[in-house]
Amino acid sequence: MKDTVSPSYDLNTHSYDVVVVGAGGAGLRATLGMAEQGLKTACITKVFPTRSHTVAAQGGIAASLSNMGPDHWHWHMYDTVKGSDWLGDTDAMEYLAREAPKAVYELEHYGVPFSRTEDGKIYQRPFGGHTTQFGEGPPVQRTCAAADRTGHAMLHTLYGQSLKNNAEFYIEYFATDLLMNDEGQCVGVVAWKLDDGTMHVFRAKMVVLATGGYGRAYFSATSAHTCTGDGGGMVARQGLPLQDMEFVQFHPTGIFGAGCLITEGARGEGGYLTNSEGERFMERYAPTYKDLASRDVVSRCMTIEIREGRGVGPNKDHIHLHLNHLPKETLDLRLPGISESARIFAGVDLTREPIPVLPTVHYNMGGIPTNYWGEVLNPTASDPDRIVPGLMAVGEAGCASVHGANRLGSNSLIDLVVFGRAAAIRAGTIVDPDGAVPDVPRASLDHAISRFDDIRHASGNISTAELRLEMQRTMQADAAVFRTDKTLAEGVEKMRGVASKMDDIKVTDRSMIWNSDLMETLELTNLMPNAMATIVSAEARKESRGAHAHEDYPDRDDVEWRKHSLATVDGEKVDLSYRPVHLNPLMGHNEGGIDLERIKPKARVY
Ligand SMILES: Cc1cc2nc3c(=O)[nH]c(=O)nc-3n(C[C@H](O)[C@H](O)[C@H](O)COP(=O)(O)OP(=O)(O)OC[C@H]3O[C@@H](n4cnc5c(N)ncnc54)[C@H](O)[C@@H]3O)c2cc1C
Repeated sequence: MKDTVSPSYDLNTHSYDVVVVGAGGAGLRATLGMAEQGLKTACITKVFPTRSHTVAAQGGIAASLSNMGPDHWHWHMYDTVKGSDWLGDTDAMEYLAREAPKAVYELEHYGVPFSRTEDGKIYQRPFGGHTTQFGEGPPVQRTCAAADRTGHAMLHTLYGQSLKNNAEFYIEYFATDLLMNDEGQCVGVVAWKLDDGTMHVFRAKMVVLATGGYGRAYFSATSAHTCTGDGGGMVARQGLPLQDMEFVQFHPTGIFGAGCLITEGARGEGGYLTNSEGERFMERYAPTYKDLASRDVVSRCMTIEIREGRGVGPNKDHIHLHLNHLPKETLDLRLPGISESARIFAGVDLTREPIPVLPTVHYNMGGIPTNYWGEVLNPTASDPDRIVPGLMAVGEAGCASVHGANRLGSNSLIDLVVFGRAAAIRAGTIVDPDGAVPDVPRASLDHAISRFDDIRHASGNISTAELRLEMQRTMQADAAVFRTDKTLAEGVEKMRGVASKMDDIKVTDRSMIWNSDLMETLELTNLMPNAMATIVSAEARKESRGAHAHEDYPDRDDVEWRKHSLATVDGEKVDLSYRPVHLNPLMGHNEGGIDLERIKPKARVY
């Protein structure tokens, strides 16, 4: 169906039960699940599905399968609660840990080629913060892996399965805005087809945002250049809040200079860090779990070593990661991908020399607030769990919240599949395949098209690349591993200035076909609200918790601050409010659920 709107664009209209935006691990698992539920499902993606950032996930996916020693979902849940520094929602964390084994076996049956143990079971390796006996026993081997290419294996399998179940793909379509009606219900999305310049309206009974993280708001990040927080941007433009955005994970081992990731699996297989004195310094900070303490802890210790003058290299500005003591067979079998990355990006033969590494932005714990079914929330004071009808968010774009203030390694891939699957199960009960597809109000459509047209014809004074760099440098300097009142206040001021320059942006290419200038500008309009929400939420939080290490308030403050931040962003203006953490699990202890005494807040030591 064609329709013309002013400013004049021909619109191609499509109608579906469900439209999923994003074809990473979360989007594909949701798409597959929706199609399996018998719902007419489309998946829109700006990059080819198997090029989504999930393809780069190396280390693996956490589930308490007990293939390589005793494990229990209670222990996985405990580790996740502790990893989150007691900010995660208890019901969601329980759901994650409990459903994880099922979700992994499903992946196996769909065809994911996991590495194997001698007796043919799924191979599992140790990862930071994953323990036995509620943190009292030794590290556990919980992370299921396909060598160091787990995300790659998952994407290929899930894409094939989605096609098999007749999901329809719209590849290299860029979703620009959500369409909402006056009742606050989401009724579709607008998308621009990158290769022929046509514009598309996708009407739907349910829209699922699975657009990934916004690592590219920072200067140095392990994430792909496409990780620009588009879902968060679309949600913010509808006046809906973003949750817990101050919690940004720095991965301890980005390759110095290049930023590419060396998986935590490297330390899981026996790698360790040293300073300029050749000291294995993690033994001093985390006597029990050492190099396998959780990521925020290791990143802070590395930063302290560098600050105190014990960094390596001519400028004493990085740290060494050693794998050269490991047998060559282990490296070849378990870590072939990173051997190659170390050679290409650091010029290092890791069988002989250490790899230069530095904490690098890696993951966004915050995102679009949802319940554990993936339904997006628009909390009010009287109803902190109020649902936005017609809208779901899953994967790194969402915030269920299972990672709270800090995510454990290998807990993201499992989050993608558990909650992608949960969203499909939920949609199977609330979306009626025989019901009518809701109408799209004219005003909402006009608004989305005008915004697109305004950006396409923007003729200000500052280029997208210049403004993006200004944002990235500010975020890198002022919303860093360690934060102070002073750096945050200065950062907020600077970011207000940066965000206000969006009105003065210049797009030089006005064409509609493969216009990367326009696409990057649209992406910048999404990065900016994510960055603003991050730094303003960080400035307000007067405590240290998980990845938010505030030097003026070094302790966690559960009385004042065990609550989720909500940031509503409008240009350079950010309004903050808060919503309570869910403290109740889904299952009582007598039904087999976790003993609540076990997960009561306490000091977080590794
Ligand atoms: C290098 C690296 C290694 C990692 N290793 C691990 C690991 O071993 N274990 C682990 O648990 N986690 C790991 N993580 C984290 C984890 O991989 C990510 O959090 C996860 O893959 C994100 O998946 P996603 O499906 O949410 O989004 P992505 O995989 O980022 O996919 C986003 C999708 O959204 C689409 N999209 C975005 N915007 C638009 C738009 N405007 N219009 C249309 N489509 C759009 C994209 O095309 C893409 O298909 C790693 C992360 C990185 C960066």
